[in-house]
Amino acid sequence: MAVTIGVDLDNTLACVDLLYAEVAEALGLGKFRGMNKQEVKGALVSQDGDETLWQKVQGQVFGPWYQKASVFPGASEVIEGWLKLGHKVLIISHKTRRGHFDESQTDLHEAARQWLKDRALVGHGMLSAEDVIFRTSRDEKVKAIRQKDCEIFIDDLMEVLSHEQFPETCRPVLFCPLGDSGTNNLTVATSWSAVEKRVFDMLEKA
Ligand SMILES: [Mg+2]
Repeated sequence: MAVTIGVDLDNTLACVDLLYAEVAEALGLGKFRGMNKQEVKGALVSQDGDETLWQKVQGQVFGPWYQKASVFPGASEVIEGWLKLGHKVLIISHKTRRGHFDESQTDLHEAARQWLKDRALVGHGMLSAEDVIFRTSRDEKVKAIRQKDCEIFIDDLMEVLSHEQFPETCRPVLFCPLGDSGTNNLTVATSWSAVEKRVFDMLEKA
Protein backbone atom coordinates (compact mmCIF):
# COMPACT_ATOMS: atom_id res chain seq x y z
CA MET A 1 0.00 0.00 0.00
CA ALA A 2 1.33 3.41 -0.97
CA VAL A 3 1.73 5.90 1.86
CA THR A 4 2.81 9.51 2.32
CA ILE A 5 6.23 9.82 3.93
CA GLY A 6 7.23 13.25 5.22
CA VAL A 7 10.85 14.22 5.67
CA ASP A 8 12.38 17.18 7.47
CA LEU A 9 15.08 19.10 5.60
CA ASP A 10 17.78 20.58 7.85
CA ASN A 11 19.91 17.98 9.63
CA THR A 12 17.70 15.19 8.39
CA LEU A 13 18.28 15.43 4.65
CA ALA A 14 20.78 18.30 4.48
CA CYS A 15 23.82 17.92 6.70
CA VAL A 16 24.05 21.49 7.96
CA ASP A 17 25.69 21.08 11.37
CA LEU A 18 29.21 20.76 9.99
CA LEU A 19 28.98 24.19 8.38
CA TYR A 20 28.88 26.15 11.64
CA ALA A 21 32.58 25.81 12.44
CA GLU A 22 33.53 26.64 8.87
CA VAL A 23 31.33 29.75 8.75
CA ALA A 24 32.48 31.01 12.17
CA GLU A 25 36.11 30.75 11.02
CA ALA A 26 35.34 32.42 7.68
CA LEU A 27 33.78 35.33 9.59
CA GLY A 28 37.06 35.68 11.51
CA LEU A 29 35.49 34.89 14.88
CA GLY A 30 38.24 32.52 16.02
CA LYS A 31 39.36 28.91 15.66
CA PHE A 32 36.53 26.39 15.61
CA ARG A 33 37.92 23.47 13.61
CA GLY A 34 36.44 20.13 14.59
CA MET A 35 33.70 21.69 16.72
CA ASN A 36 30.10 20.63 16.32
CA LYS A 37 27.17 23.03 16.32
CA GLN A 38 26.69 23.07 20.10
CA GLU A 39 30.38 23.66 20.71
CA VAL A 40 30.50 26.54 18.23
CA LYS A 41 27.41 28.03 19.86
CA GLY A 42 28.93 27.68 23.32
CA ALA A 43 32.18 29.33 22.24
CA LEU A 44 30.41 32.25 20.55
CA VAL A 45 27.95 32.88 23.35
CA SER A 46 30.75 32.97 25.92
CA GLN A 47 32.72 35.26 23.59
CA ASP A 48 30.12 38.01 23.33
CA GLY A 49 27.87 37.32 26.30
CA ASP A 50 24.72 37.03 24.20
CA GLU A 51 23.58 35.28 21.05
CA THR A 52 24.36 38.03 18.52
CA LEU A 53 27.45 36.37 17.01
CA TRP A 54 25.75 33.00 17.08
CA GLN A 55 22.73 34.36 15.22
CA LYS A 56 25.04 36.01 12.71
CA VAL A 57 26.68 32.64 12.02
CA GLN A 58 23.27 30.97 11.73
CA GLY A 59 22.16 33.60 9.22
CA GLN A 60 25.14 32.73 7.04
CA VAL A 61 24.79 28.96 7.41
CA PHE A 62 21.20 28.94 6.17
CA GLY A 63 21.76 31.76 3.64
CA PRO A 64 24.84 32.21 1.46
CA TRP A 65 26.63 29.11 2.79
CA TYR A 66 23.73 26.70 2.55
CA GLN A 67 24.77 25.48 -0.91
CA LYS A 68 27.82 23.85 0.71
CA ALA A 69 25.71 21.50 2.83
CA SER A 70 25.96 17.83 1.82
CA VAL A 71 23.15 15.29 1.53
CA PHE A 72 23.30 12.69 4.31
CA PRO A 73 24.79 9.50 2.82
CA GLY A 74 22.17 7.23 1.30
CA ALA A 75 19.27 9.68 1.65
CA SER A 76 18.78 10.25 -2.10
CA GLU A 77 18.80 6.52 -2.83
CA VAL A 78 16.30 5.76 -0.06
CA ILE A 79 13.91 8.46 -1.30
CA GLU A 80 14.30 7.26 -4.88
CA GLY A 81 13.42 3.74 -3.71
CA TRP A 82 10.27 4.96 -1.94
CA LEU A 83 9.16 6.86 -5.03
CA LYS A 84 9.72 3.76 -7.19
CA LEU A 85 7.49 1.78 -4.81
CA GLY A 86 4.77 4.38 -5.43
CA HIS A 87 4.97 6.19 -2.09
CA LYS A 88 4.48 9.94 -1.90
CA VAL A 89 7.42 11.78 -0.37
CA LEU A 90 7.08 15.33 0.96
CA ILE A 91 9.77 17.55 2.42
CA ILE A 92 8.25 19.69 5.18
CA SER A 93 10.57 22.22 6.76
CA HIS A 94 10.40 24.96 9.39
CA LYS A 95 12.42 27.86 8.02
CA THR A 96 12.19 31.62 8.32
CA ARG A 97 12.33 33.60 5.10
CA ARG A 98 15.42 35.65 6.02
CA GLY A 99 18.38 34.98 8.28
CA HIS A 100 19.53 37.17 11.16
CA PHE A 101 22.10 39.85 10.31
CA ASP A 102 22.49 38.53 6.78
CA GLU A 103 23.52 41.53 4.72
CA SER A 104 23.09 39.54 1.51
CA GLN A 105 19.37 39.21 2.43
CA THR A 106 19.34 35.70 0.98
CA ASP A 107 15.86 34.20 0.70
CA LEU A 108 16.30 31.05 2.83
CA HIS A 109 13.42 29.23 1.15
CA GLU A 110 14.90 29.89 -2.28
CA ALA A 111 18.38 28.86 -1.07
CA ALA A 112 16.96 25.54 0.10
CA ARG A 113 15.02 25.03 -3.15
CA GLN A 114 18.18 25.69 -5.15
CA TRP A 115 20.09 23.21 -3.00
CA LEU A 116 17.43 20.53 -3.54
CA LYS A 117 17.62 21.07 -7.31
CA ASP A 118 21.42 21.06 -7.37
CA ARG A 119 21.47 17.83 -5.37
CA ALA A 120 18.97 16.26 -7.81
CA LEU A 121 16.38 15.72 -5.08
CA VAL A 122 13.94 17.99 -6.90
CA GLY A 123 13.52 17.49 -10.66
CA HIS A 124 15.44 14.70 -12.41
CA GLY A 125 12.50 12.30 -11.94
CA MET A 126 12.61 12.77 -8.16
CA LEU A 127 10.42 15.23 -6.22
CA SER A 128 8.53 18.11 -7.76
CA ALA A 129 8.65 21.69 -6.44
CA GLU A 130 5.16 21.23 -4.89
CA ASP A 131 6.46 18.37 -2.78
CA VAL A 132 8.65 20.84 -0.85
CA ILE A 133 6.75 22.77 1.81
CA PHE A 134 8.16 25.54 3.99
CA ARG A 135 6.47 26.89 7.10
CA THR A 136 7.83 29.76 9.16
CA SER A 137 7.02 28.30 12.58
CA ARG A 138 7.19 24.88 14.20
CA ASP A 139 3.45 24.94 14.93
CA GLU A 140 2.69 25.61 11.26
CA LYS A 141 5.06 22.82 10.23
CA VAL A 142 3.25 20.32 12.45
CA LYS A 143 -0.05 21.57 11.02
CA ALA A 144 1.26 20.86 7.49
CA ILE A 145 2.27 17.31 8.53
CA ARG A 146 -1.34 16.83 9.65
CA GLN A 147 -2.93 18.51 6.60
CA LYS A 148 -0.85 16.45 4.18
CA ASP A 149 -1.83 13.21 5.97
CA CYS A 150 1.74 12.02 6.41
CA GLU A 151 1.66 8.44 7.66
CA ILE A 152 5.34 8.54 8.58
CA PHE A 153 7.50 11.57 9.44
CA ILE A 154 11.27 11.65 9.83
CA ASP A 155 12.85 14.51 11.77
CA ASP A 156 15.95 15.19 13.86
CA LEU A 157 13.99 17.17 16.44
CA MET A 158 12.02 15.61 19.28
CA GLU A 159 10.20 18.93 19.59
CA VAL A 160 8.52 18.28 16.24
CA LEU A 161 7.76 14.58 16.72
CA SER A 162 6.43 14.98 20.25
CA HIS A 163 4.54 18.22 19.52
CA GLU A 164 1.07 18.19 21.04
CA GLN A 165 -0.50 18.75 17.61
CA PHE A 166 1.53 15.98 15.93
CA PRO A 167 -1.08 13.71 14.31
CA GLU A 168 -1.81 10.41 16.07
CA THR A 169 -2.10 8.70 12.70
CA CYS A 170 1.50 9.57 11.82
CA ARG A 171 4.38 7.36 12.91
CA PRO A 172 7.46 9.35 13.96
CA VAL A 173 11.07 8.40 13.24
CA LEU A 174 13.74 10.37 15.10
CA PHE A 175 16.87 10.85 12.99
CA CYS A 176 19.97 10.93 15.22
CA PRO A 177 23.10 11.03 13.04
CA LEU A 178 25.32 11.47 16.11
CA GLY A 179 24.00 8.32 17.72
CA ASP A 180 21.04 7.23 19.79
CA SER A 181 21.16 8.85 23.21
CA GLY A 182 18.55 6.36 24.39
CA THR A 183 16.72 9.12 26.23
CA ASN A 184 13.51 8.93 24.25
CA ASN A 185 10.88 6.36 23.51
CA LEU A 186 10.55 7.10 19.81
CA THR A 187 11.69 4.94 16.90
CA VAL A 188 15.24 6.09 16.26
CA ALA A 189 17.44 5.87 13.16
CA THR A 190 21.11 6.87 13.25
CA SER A 191 21.65 6.71 9.48
CA TRP A 192 19.59 6.71 6.31
CA SER A 193 20.01 2.97 5.89
CA ALA A 194 18.46 2.66 9.36
CA VAL A 195 15.68 5.04 8.26
CA GLU A 196 14.98 2.75 5.33
CA LYS A 197 14.80 -0.29 7.64
CA ARG A 198 12.53 1.42 10.18
CA VAL A 199 10.13 2.57 7.46
CA PHE A 200 10.16 -0.87 5.85
CA ASP A 201 9.28 -2.46 9.21
CA MET A 202 6.49 0.06 9.80
CA LEU A 203 4.98 -0.65 6.39
CA GLU A 204 5.28 -4.42 6.88
CA LYS A 205 3.31 -4.17 10.10
CA ALA A 206 0.71 -1.80 8.66
MG1 LIG B 1 15.77 19.48 11.27
